[in-house]
Amino acid sequence: MRTVLCFVALACLAVSSTHAQLTPPASLQPDTVFVLQPDRVFDGEMMHAGWTVIVRNDRIEAAGAALAPPAGAERIALPGTTLLPGLIEGHSHLLLHPYNETTWNDQVLREPLAYRVARAVNHARATLMAGVTTVRDLGAEGAGYADVGLKRAIDEGVIPGPRMLVAGPAMVALGSYAPRGFAPEWSVPQGAEEASGVDGVMRVARDQIARGADFIKVYADYRYGPNGEAAPTFTLEELRRIVEVASSSGRPVVAHASTPEGMRRAIEAGVETIEHGDGGTDEIWRLMVGRKVGFCPTLAAGDAIAQYGGWKKGAGPEPARITAKRASFKAALDAGVTMCFGGDVGVYSHGDNVRELELMVAYGMRALDTLRSATSVNARLFHLDARVGAVRKGLLADLVAVEGDPSSDISALRRVTLVMKGGTIHRRPRE
Ligand SMILES: [Zn+2]
Repeated sequence: MRTVLCFVALACLAVSSTHAQLTPPASLQPDTVFVLQPDRVFDGEMMHAGWTVIVRNDRIEAAGAALAPPAGAERIALPGTTLLPGLIEGHSHLLLHPYNETTWNDQVLREPLAYRVARAVNHARATLMAGVTTVRDLGAEGAGYADVGLKRAIDEGVIPGPRMLVAGPAMVALGSYAPRGFAPEWSVPQGAEEASGVDGVMRVARDQIARGADFIKVYADYRYGPNGEAAPTFTLEELRRIVEVASSSGRPVVAHASTPEGMRRAIEAGVETIEHGDGGTDEIWRLMVGRKVGFCPTLAAGDAIAQYGGWKKGAGPEPARITAKRASFKAALDAGVTMCFGGDVGVYSHGDNVRELELMVAYGMRALDTLRSATSVNARLFHLDARVGAVRKGLLADLVAVEGDPSSDISALRRVTLVMKGGTIHRRPRE
């Protein structure tokens, strides 16, 4: 190798072209090819016994029965397992950790940003290792745009983690959110960005887009009523303007909403998913079906909070709030609402994402349908279906193998043996 110093541009060119010859261009490097052989494959829609999946570099090259393995492929035997698309979590907060460790208020007000990011790095790894290869992260909860930086670090391979769609700080109506309850003389930092008025919400939506939000998350209602009850926040007009600004840029709007009126305004304004939806009525479910709005029920967050509050699950009587949630989830299901897999993970431990799917089954949904929600349905709801959410030729090789058959036992999803993201293996079975 030539080691001349570069005093003139021509000499530099000579050195760099010599160096370039040492590294073959990417097109000449050999492909990385895997042949994955599980007992069965869930392709995002249906279960197929005896399928094999071939992965070339970052993509799925083929999936089906009796495929001839390409020359030079590494065979990975996965006996006793089901291979499925990497799970897509629809409602995470990687910048939060469980409230029974530290209350939400104390996380927002007392934890330094760098401390929260350090935890989030661990959360991202735990999420990926649990077989969740994509998350829609629904607000940094006081951590500003830390989610934008976290997403970049994952995309650049600095740290392991799932693909991320990020909200940034999320948007709340002035005076409606939390932390609250302080003397009126004090202005206390909030867990999301406040906005007010048609001009105000449009300015905040544009600013959040400019700083890296993949979508806008709004709180269409919150617990700020006279007695602390949930009440609608933004006017219909404000919500419409937020959707107008976001959709001009090609970005969706999603809404936290749990009152019928908050949900109705959000749906009328054109949001794409409703988060929580505890107070949904038959009329609201019909409206959601008609407008093709997805529903992230966040059953696991309610289940966790009730237990943090003292409920001894399985021993003590079920709290009224849980019984009501079970009924409203079933009503939404019976009405034919499109169910998103989104548990509000962060309220409970990252990596425990499957908890939501287990509760969806416990509350009356068929296991196979919950698998669809966690893969093809969420991919479609989040506009990712041309890239992920199915085992299909040409899609990114985001693949997970689990012991057993999750279509008959959803908890099989907890027994992860292989995690592949974009063709890179992050977790593999012991030889
Ligand atoms: Zn949330």
